[in-house]
Formats: sequence, C-alpha cells, structure tokens
Amino acid sequence: MADLPLAAASDVLERFWRYVQVPTQSSDEHCDQVPSSDIQFDLARLLADELRELGAQDVQVTDHAYVCAHIPASAGSEHQPRLGLIAHLDTTEVVSGFDVKPHIVHYEDGPLVSGEVNGTPVQISPDKLPALNDLVNQDLVCSDGTTLLGADDKAGVAEIMSLVARLAAHPELPHPPLGICFCPDEEIGHGAELLDLDAFDCTYAYTVDGGPLGEIEWECFNACEATVRFQGYSIHPGDAKDRMINAGNLFAAFHALLPEHMRPEHTEGYDGFIHLEGVSATCEHATARYIVRDHDAAQFDAKIALIERAAAFVNAAQGTDCVSVAIKQQYRNMAEIVANYPELIDTAKDAFAATDVEPRVLPIRGGTDGAQLSFRGLPCPNLSTGGYCFHGVNEFIPVRALEKMVDVLQELVARFA
Ligand SMILES: [Zn+2]
Repeated sequence: MADLPLAAASDVLERFWRYVQVPTQSSDEHCDQVPSSDIQFDLARLLADELRELGAQDVQVTDHAYVCAHIPASAGSEHQPRLGLIAHLDTTEVVSGFDVKPHIVHYEDGPLVSGEVNGTPVQISPDKLPALNDLVNQDLVCSDGTTLLGADDKAGVAEIMSLVARLAAHPELPHPPLGICFCPDEEIGHGAELLDLDAFDCTYAYTVDGGPLGEIEWECFNACEATVRFQGYSIHPGDAKDRMINAGNLFAAFHALLPEHMRPEHTEGYDGFIHLEGVSATCEHATARYIVRDHDAAQFDAKIALIERAAAFVNAAQGTDCVSVAIKQQYRNMAEIVANYPELIDTAKDAFAATDVEPRVLPIRGGTDGAQLSFRGLPCPNLSTGGYCFHGVNEFIPVRALEKMVDVLQELVARFA
C-alpha cells in the first residue's frame, strides 16, 4: 500500500488514501447480479468493521453488498426524523481502477501533471479545466496516471466515515438519528435498487456523490431508451426495380427527420437531447438505439412524440408499417419529488455557506441514485464530494475539499438536530 506522505494527515485524508487502494470496479457484463463484482464486498466489509468500531448500530453488509448502519442521535435530538447519508462503493470500469497509487501533487501553475505513462506526462491544462486557476498552492490527491483515482465515490465514502468518527469522538456535536448507507453498482445504474428502505428507515437523505466543492444537485434528466426497428424487403439488386426496400435507407430517412440541434454535441445546461447510441443495418432489417433526455417532463414527452411522428411519416411515405418504435422508460427527474422538500436544498445551502463555501445549485445532465430513491419515497438531493475529472486518469481531489466536506456534513447534520 502506498504510504501517506503527510506527517499530520487528517482523518478524512487517511481514510480516503486507504479506500482508493481497495479495488471495487463494477462490471456491466454482470449487471444481472448485485453486486456485479465480488470485489465490492472487500470495501463493504472493511467499512462495516470500521463503523462497528465507531459505535454505529445495526451495522450490516447485505448479500447484495449494501453497507447499512444507524447512528444514534445526540442528546435531545432523539425524536427528530432520521437523516440518511449515502455514497457508493464501486468505481467505473471505463478506466482501470486496479492498483491505484494515490500521491499528492502540490499544484503551482500550468498543467496539472499527475503521472507519466511510457514517457508521456499524464496532464490536464487550465484551458481544459479553468478550475485549476482556483487551486494554486493546494495539495491535490492524484493517481499515478495509469488508473483512475476513485474519488467518485470514495471521497463521498471517506467524508461520511470521517463525519461518523468525528461525531463518535465529540458527543456534544448536535445531530439527529442518522442512517448510513454505502451502495454497490451505482456506476452501472443499480445503486439504490436493492436498498431496503424499511430497514434504512430514513425520512430524507443526501447522496454525497457530486463534483467540485459547493455543488448541490436536485434536478436530473427524465430518461428513456427508444429502439427503432426498420423492416426492409431484400431482393437481388439486379431485380430490385420497384421491389426492393432497403432498411438502411429507411433508417437514414427516419434519422434525417430528427432535429440536428437536439443532438448532445449541441446541448448543455437545461437542454435535453436525442442521442443515437448505435445502429445496425442490412437491406432486410435495421435497428437503431436512441436515448432521450430532458429535465422538463413536457419537453421530454415532446421528444418522444417527435420520434413517433418521424416513424409515422416514414410509414405513410412507404404505405406500410415498416418502422416501429419501442420506448423503455429509464429514470425520471427527481425534482418532481424534491421540489416538495425545499428545506433540503435550503439546509444544504446554509451548511455550505456556514463553512465559507459558495453553494452552487446545478442541474445534473444524467441520473443519480437519488433519483430512484426519491421516487421510492426517500427524497434525496446530491452533494459535492470536492473531486474533479471523474471517470478518467486525470481524476483528482484537493485535500482541502475532502476536509471541507466533513465540516459541511457536520454543519448539515447539526441543522437537522
Ligand atoms: Zn459517483
């Protein structure tokens, strides 16, 4: 295990340093089982042991590798509703997460160089990441450039664990009863699915799984997948006159009807999109897979209607039902639920402000564990971890951000006491 170079490392840094060196990649190939990779149990058991040592109650690792625990309230807050804090165990498999070697780079200026691979520096420059300009003279935890770091979401795990340790050491710190949960398989979309909400028994929760310090997220996309099938008619091209229907051309005609400005490469902020994920075509059959995303439910429905109208147009032009559309709903914008709990957002803003961090409310251009949990009855906004450049070899987190987030969480739980 790589040694921590700082003589007086904070508790959260010491934890983060250890947790990122326990590999926990989830595996899309095995998404039919939870956890999708057995290695996630390694970190799950380690955290459960540490939670027990810190005096947590009802600590368990379920058969599906969920770590759940309860922390009793501070004196006088026993009757407050229980507040949940959630992070995920797994890291993405898009970049290797094995043999992570964290180290600290004292950033001064220019490109942030995290390591070197085959003589080429692994680096990111301030023009690609302007936020670096605000991190001058800070200690940044990086990988060695051959793997991701795993701040997504081991920073969230370490920050929650460090809060638990702080509350255990300082019983005078006010907090309501807490539920702690570390989920497997968030990166492949199954994070919150098998969390037993009755046993977790929280009234509301926060996930700690966001990016740079200060982020508060409570709006995500509405999401569905559209599979469009094209039935052609194949015949020898020499005899094709007035008879052949090429499914590839049906797809091309269909795709041309979808507005170009709705493609992801032309959208940002609150813009939704229709994204062609893949297409396969022969003369006889073609199948195109699209994903549809929009924060606004009406705009989302309008995009689905657009796909259906394009199919109807091609069918009418051909005079047969050669195009069919199958829609599979994926997740919904949790704002629909969380909007009923504005106090969750206001309290998070206050907690950031109390630690001199400027809160920034941002729409998520994706989904989150919190979306699923919100619709299952546990309203659950997402908070920053403090990390940058997730899912890549440039991933890093400032030591200060790790430490600050523990203070933010302390301020947050105090406000629910
Ligand atoms: Zn994450």
